Amino acid sequence: MSGRTFSFEFFPPKSEQGAEKLRAVWAELAQVRPAFFSVTFGAGGSTREGTWRTVMEMHRAGLPVAPHISCMGTTRAEVARLLHDYRQAGVKRLVALRGDMPSGAAGGAGDFQYANELVAFIRAEAGDWFHIEVAAYPEYHPQSRSPADDLANFVRKVDAGANSAITQYFYNADAYFRLVDAARAAGCEVPIVPGIMPITNFAQLARFSDACGAEIPRWIRLKLASFGDDRASIQAYGLDVVTELCERLLAASAPGLHFYTMNQARPTLELWRRLGLPR
Ligand code: FAD
Repeated sequence: MSGRTFSFEFFPPKSEQGAEKLRAVWAELAQVRPAFFSVTFGAGGSTREGTWRTVMEMHRAGLPVAPHISCMGTTRAEVARLLHDYRQAGVKRLVALRGDMPSGAAGGAGDFQYANELVAFIRAEAGDWFHIEVAAYPEYHPQSRSPADDLANFVRKVDAGANSAITQYFYNADAYFRLVDAARAAGCEVPIVPGIMPITNFAQLARFSDACGAEIPRWIRLKLASFGDDRASIQAYGLDVVTELCERLLAASAPGLHFYTMNQARPTLELWRRLGLPR
């Protein structure tokens, strides 16, 4: 795959039934040999156990897996223990995030304020053992004071020791190209892999996008809304739009793609097939 990094993201299942379903999904996705699977970490550490269980099960099955670690609301001692446990288990890659507090929780507790502090802490604790991924935002993080601040804060994470970045999902390819250009102009050379969200459920996507500040362009949003409850049409149109987005990104030398699978194999594999990526 010409040195590009293709990866798939899961969230930890909440029930044994969900875990069973996810086993079937990762078995199917493993057939296309992604560089790694990542597993999210719930807001404020709310899925700590679930993330650990899922990561360990995949790791024992011989799959390359990268746990997400978010630092908001956690202590240095808790993070140090988790790093130690992952290191003991032989896990080599992490996605390091600030995270958000769960709704209703009091903010501010914990030893870390921003992801750059977590990255620096991981490097201080574990040297070069882990490959560290951080988040990047083509359409800017919703709490950034300005685009210039957003870039400076991204560069701060890389300077703290991140090896590469994965972006928030987006449907405006130009926003991604601008981010990469700005990062390069700021002297930041790490790979910035686009995060890709397949479109399967419009209501859910609209909710997510409002929360995380990812824009669904008007021409896509109105078209999707016009399908009403017709899931088949939403999925067919979504597949066309996201395939074209990925084609543009790869044609412009994106260093890979990170798929937000939403714990489903089919939409990601269908994109994979349409893009002609190797099976
Ligand atoms: P940061 O890089 O710390 O940035 C947060 C905000 O603070 C930004 O507005 C930034 O501009 C600003 N900022 C950063 N540093 C400074 C500083 N030193 N001084 C002042 N301002 C600063 N969330 C989860 O809870 N669990 C997950 O598993 C998870 N996985 C994700 C995976 C990816 C690929 C992405 C893109 C996001 C993920 N998120 C996850 C969401 C993420 O936690 C939120 O977007 C969160 O609000 C910001 O996290 P961050 O690591 O980008 O934070």
